[in-house]
Amino acid sequence: MRILLVEDDAGLGEGIRTALKPEGYTVDWLRDGRSALHALTDESFDLAVLDLGLPRLDGLEVLRQLRAAANPVPVLVLTARDATADRIAGLDAGADDYLIKPFDVSELKARLRALLRRSFNRPQPALEYAGITLDPASQTVTWQGQPVSLQRKEFILLHELIAQPGRVLTRDKLQQVLYGWGEEVESNAIEVHIHHLRKKFAPELIRTVRGVGYLVDKR
Ligand code: CA
Repeated sequence: MRILLVEDDAGLGEGIRTALKPEGYTVDWLRDGRSALHALTDESFDLAVLDLGLPRLDGLEVLRQLRAAANPVPVLVLTARDATADRIAGLDAGADDYLIKPFDVSELKARLRALLRRSFNRPQPALEYAGITLDPASQTVTWQGQPVSLQRKEFILLHELIAQPGRVLTRDKLQQVLYGWGEEVESNAIEVHIHHLRKKFAPELIRTVRGVGYLVDKR
């Protein structure tokens, strides 16, 4: 479970990170809004804990830009602003939950567990692309009406690609989606999965963009 913590207060950030580690979360910590927006755009997180008062880009603005780009990552907002208007603004901007500082770490943990449960239970629609139907709920794939058996990583990779036709997914991005940071990955691991997918569907399904990554064409 990978969490992005965005908090400019060093003491509080360290406290949260230390508290979450034993829970089995991988916590990446950033201290300003602009870096947070970049990280959330370029990488995959299961959840973000976002302070509102941040240098370089306000937390509310980070949230607005994320949601404007249809980024669905669950966000728990931390705010020192105990004003109803600010809380409403946070929820309107797309926060899934909020906590007012100071808060008890055990409450933060409980809120995170609840958010993660909700996000994993959220129904995801089946995707259709060029004769492929991929159903995240049942974890099944058909190709021209026939069931196709995929390994877990092949399934995730195919899902990433056909969810965003016309968009090049870089090798780094795919590696993070499949393996996360810190895991040792064979340098050709992505190529091997792509090779298998092409064999199971059609060779022309996935295009290689040399030196960058892969995409499926927009249809
Ligand atoms: Ca702050």
